[in-house]
Amino acid sequence: MKKGSIHTTVGIIGGSGLYEIDGLSDIREYNPATPYGRPSSPLVLGTLEGMRVAFLSRHGQGHRIAPSDINYRANIFALKQLGVEWILSVSAVGSMREDIQPGQVVIPDQFFDHTRQRINTFFGGPVAPGIVAHVGFADPVCPDLARILADACGPQDVVVHRGGTYLCIEGPQFSSKGESLIYRRWGVDVIGMTNVPEAKLAREAEICYSTMAMVTDYDCWHETHESVTVEAILETLHRNVERAKQIIREALTSLPIDRSCPCESALKMALVTPQHMVPLTTRRRLAPLLARHSGPQPPPRPQRVKRLAKRPQRRLALVPKSRGRK
Ligand SMILES: [Zn+2]
Repeated sequence: MKKGSIHTTVGIIGGSGLYEIDGLSDIREYNPATPYGRPSSPLVLGTLEGMRVAFLSRHGQGHRIAPSDINYRANIFALKQLGVEWILSVSAVGSMREDIQPGQVVIPDQFFDHTRQRINTFFGGPVAPGIVAHVGFADPVCPDLARILADACGPQDVVVHRGGTYLCIEGPQFSSKGESLIYRRWGVDVIGMTNVPEAKLAREAEICYSTMAMVTDYDCWHETHESVTVEAILETLHRNVERAKQIIREALTSLPIDRSCPCESALKMALVTPQHMVPLTTRRRLAPLLARHSGPQPPPRPQRVKRLAKRPQRRLALVPKSRGRK
């Protein structure tokens, strides 16, 4: 496989209802091995609106992978291997607010992690032991990408809510009414099951991440709306999927050539372990993430300084001897 031909700038992760993207040209499939295994589905690479994009179906072909079983690390790592700098995440969500109605779009600017069994980091564990990193996550969404996505909704005649907190639950069951009412008191805006692991891993991979949350229902807290069902969600999604695709195309035309947001250097001050103490296998496996960072440098070795100091003395001692023999 030619390395240059797969270099891709934009990743699009499609969730429930969005399993493919139209209008791609120069299409090829790519199913890479990563240190964490294979992604949810082969990536579909192509050109759209002049940009090289990689489309990934989050739940796999045929929607076979539950939120807790998605290999988020392989998904994000595979996109990183391709050179992806931006990830547009398309996700179905429930509304936790009266004024956020089904059929509308939310571009969240915060996440609340209420999952229980997800692996949210590339660092440590059996795949990459011996390295620790703490990336900043105070602002978990790329501000530039979020603005571009929200602006891209304008021409589509869709109500868009800029900002808001996405609550990520473990699932796969929907919430009970008791939970839903408590979540509302927490002040969250939408509820979903997949975006927090993606956002955390994208940050570690220094990829800009933003979600286009397609509102499908009112969860189950709403007294005058029927409780959420898969059927109702899919019906709303199918009505809005074409609109989502148009928003993506519009957003692609607005992406800047160079990034000026903090996402691209998220690891710079986050790596705690000095590079010389990171096992070689870990360094090799994480090369796509670590290539730009050497981490804290090892202290100079004292022996080396000693040897340098001795060398001139030895040379000086040789000179008089050879002269003496002449
Ligand atoms: Zn960014």
